[in-house]
Amino acid sequence: MIVIGAGHNGLVTAAYLAKAGLRTIILEARESVGGTAASEPFGGATVNICNCDHLTFRTTPVMTELDLAAHGLTYLDADPSQLNMTWDDHRPWLSFHDVDRTIDGLMLMHPREVEGYRRYLKAAIPAVKMVLDAASEPPSLGGLTRTALEHRMRGVSTLLRWSRLSAADVMRSFFDTEALRAPALAVGPMVWGISPEFAGSGLGALTYAMRHVAKVGRPVGGSGAVPEALLAAFTAAQGELRTSSRVSSIVCDSTGVRGVTLADGTEIRADIVVSACDPHRTFVEWLTGAPSQADDLIERWRTIPHSQGYESKIDAILTEVPRLVDTDTADFRRLGVDSSACTAAIAPSIAEMDRGYELMGRGQILDRPGLLVNVPTVMDPSMAPYGRHVLSLEAIYTPYNFVGGWDSAAEPQRWLDRFATLVQPGFAESVVEWRAMTPASYESEFNLPQGHATSFAGGPLASVRNKNPELTRYETAVRGLYITGAATFPGAGVWGASGRNAATVVLRSLP
Ligand SMILES: Cc1cc2nc3c(=O)[nH]c(=O)nc-3n(C[C@H](O)[C@H](O)[C@H](O)COP(=O)(O)OP(=O)(O)OC[C@H]3O[C@@H](n4cnc5c(N)ncnc54)[C@H](O)[C@@H]3O)c2cc1C
Repeated sequence: MIVIGAGHNGLVTAAYLAKAGLRTIILEARESVGGTAASEPFGGATVNICNCDHLTFRTTPVMTELDLAAHGLTYLDADPSQLNMTWDDHRPWLSFHDVDRTIDGLMLMHPREVEGYRRYLKAAIPAVKMVLDAASEPPSLGGLTRTALEHRMRGVSTLLRWSRLSAADVMRSFFDTEALRAPALAVGPMVWGISPEFAGSGLGALTYAMRHVAKVGRPVGGSGAVPEALLAAFTAAQGELRTSSRVSSIVCDSTGVRGVTLADGTEIRADIVVSACDPHRTFVEWLTGAPSQADDLIERWRTIPHSQGYESKIDAILTEVPRLVDTDTADFRRLGVDSSACTAAIAPSIAEMDRGYELMGRGQILDRPGLLVNVPTVMDPSMAPYGRHVLSLEAIYTPYNFVGGWDSAAEPQRWLDRFATLVQPGFAESVVEWRAMTPASYESEFNLPQGHATSFAGGPLASVRNKNPELTRYETAVRGLYITGAATFPGAGVWGASGRNAATVVLRSLP
């Protein structure tokens, strides 16, 4: 068996296959594993490539089934899980895992929205529970029906209704202020790279409820501790990893897949190949000599437009933890919690988000972009030397084709300057060193075509009405060729469900 790509999904698939006793090789183009879930050294500290709030990974059985704790993986819970605010409203509020604590905080900061929050949770929580359960199985109509019955159909009407609406309309139906509407959308449709006004984006409004059902966690040592533990589980099961091994083609004959060729010309034979990479690359660029049954698949992917990257992230080494000035108020202090560890979702208004999406299409960036900011070293001091902190500042709707070009640091510097207006004086002086990861860097350093971190669009219902069945079935029209990764169900995030589902499908296919 060959798995192409040692992102966390490829590692999950490979670890399950190796554990089942199958000879499995992972081929990874980079020198190390983890893809965008990795961590790496920068400025004497450890920084994460992704923002590193893992919300879904621990909702799957992966951690237990692969015994990742024994392979060194430990999680810290982030609670409060998120600080929510907008650029214009000066009353930040906190999401806790516990509903009552969240509501107590809302009573202080936004008392008029409490009733709406309760109504929202009543509709959203059963739907989230359904989504998370459905994600941990390869989707099928039968499986989905079974999950719905196990949940006594609770959540089904919300899923059906919201998936036809825009996420913005869903939030407007519960809340009166942008302070409650917009932050949910910044960590929903905005991080998916779409406008919250798009019809059909409604499930992007589930994000607050997700944080009450699942716990936001951060692995000790950084996000990269997940791929490292997966690699340890894989090698303990006799799996073989080959890094610096860039696949350039997937070789087939008239009956199915036969192996792969690397960029240096090496050929490796296998009757089963799982691509844990971008589907366009897999089907359009790499498939060679595919049997005629794959003509439709290849032609379909040739005509699907390739999305461009839209996320960027600043990693900075600081001498001091930045503190939002709006949390330095009597009301906020009455909450009695330190919110400096959790991610601050700093959202534009919905109208600005929609404009930002339009601007992105023209290669431009909002004056005040959506920011997701955290200081992982507050929870996990092991990530930096004594006296230093790491800042992770993700900016959203930052287009791959930025008209100013990404060679100059002027634009990312502007996000830091904007952030500096929200925190205590002296922030700029506390920055020792910083770098910006942009769609251009994700393309050149992480092999994401056009810097786009793929994401499956659609919830569990997509399993019954998906135009690209390989994204929900993991098997393809080419016998022996499978696909996993964030482009497949259930989608982006350090989740691992796609990797596990793909392994399940491969193992079921064996005689
Ligand atoms: C800025 C940013 C912030 C994020 N924040 C969060 C967050 O807070 N929480 C969260 O859960 N998720 C977050 N994500 C999303 C998450 O990181 C990804 O969805 C997830 O890591 C994707 O994993 P994957 O295994 O599917 O793919 P990838 O991580 O992309 O792995 C694919 C692997 O395939 C390799 N590869 C590509 N081409 C070849 C080739 N030709 N030959 C061999 N190998 C190849 C790549 O090098 C890579 O290692 C964020 C993403 C970004 C970009």
